[in-house]
Amino acid sequence: MARKKLPVKKPLRQARQKRTPSRAKKHLSSVGEFGLIDLIARGSICDRPDVLQAIGDDAAVFSGSGQDRFLATTDVLNESIHFDLKSTTPYLLGRKSLAVNLSDIAAMGGRPLYYLIGLSLPNYLSPAFVRALYRGMQAQATCFDAALLGGDTVAASGGLSISVTLLGRAHPHRVLYRSGARPGDLVFVSGTVGDSALGLALLQKGTRISSRQHLVRRHLDPEPRVGLGCALADAKLVTSMIDVSDGVAADLGHILDASRVGAEVYLEQLPLSRAYQQQCPGLCVDVYAPALSGGEDYELLFTAAPKKRSAVEACARKIGVALSCIGRITGSNERLKIIDGEGQEYKLDEKGFRHF
Ligand code: ADP
Ligand code: MG
Repeated sequence: MARKKLPVKKPLRQARQKRTPSRAKKHLSSVGEFGLIDLIARGSICDRPDVLQAIGDDAAVFSGSGQDRFLATTDVLNESIHFDLKSTTPYLLGRKSLAVNLSDIAAMGGRPLYYLIGLSLPNYLSPAFVRALYRGMQAQATCFDAALLGGDTVAASGGLSISVTLLGRAHPHRVLYRSGARPGDLVFVSGTVGDSALGLALLQKGTRISSRQHLVRRHLDPEPRVGLGCALADAKLVTSMIDVSDGVAADLGHILDASRVGAEVYLEQLPLSRAYQQQCPGLCVDVYAPALSGGEDYELLFTAAPKKRSAVEACARKIGVALSCIGRITGSNERLKIIDGEGQEYKLDEKGFRHF
């Protein structure tokens, strides 16, 4: 899972490293998060016949002795990287830790089953903090009928680290992969995008934690789209799906890479909340940047054939989730093009948050 800061000017140290390629090679930043995952994937070929998808999608997929497909996903949230204890509460942090994993199961069209928690705890936290963290996780899990199976608790030398592993289940013929997009398919996204990045920007500027502030709430307490993911999978309407954790541009990029296709996304069709439209100009020079590359919206981004459009829209209406068609899939020789209101290509600076 990636994270979450509006693009900032590169610090001098990074700029200097760029000018000395021999030194840069030694650092993770020379390959980046996704380069690193590629590197791991290439060195970890999985040839068990019961593993249908290992590294490369929102969750791994494997079969058991019956018909069901099982799903497994894990995400780590680290203090100072993924959250700041000054701008969240332990309860909300617990809810979000589980939500980011629920969102990955949703993106596969699956239903959550069980979860395990790995905690690295610094001594400055209290038992009351841990209790509230678990209250948050359990409140979130209960909404989706997921049960805590166990975990691990260790001391941390640095900040708090929360690792959640979530298992889920899906119908054998209805698992939704990143790799199924076809030229001509339409690209849809649920809800609104960019709110979380602006919520983070507000928190960093000192806005206090309040569930009444829409953007802040979207950042601190995202709502995983499990109902929509299952409904779309059950209705067999979708060709590929991913959740928006790294930003629309980066996550659509993952669908394009896995499906070996290109896409056009129309800037003016991106769904922006009223709060986004009101507050973005005061927070960001490029008013589309948070929507395209902010990340952590945990909406579902998916593709479907044009003839399925009204069925897809009816499905989302039934679940009560807004849906927008933001573009279309193009041919295998194409890449991602973002088109502005004048029909010109829009250049995006950053595609999602970079870890390294
Ligand atoms: P997401 O944003 O949906 O959580 P990621 O970008 O974190 O997905 O991961 C993409 C894929 O790479 C997933 O299949 C994930 O399991 C795999 N992956 C990420 N990090 C590692 C790692 N350190 N070792 C093995 N697989 C990894
Ligand atoms: Mg994901």
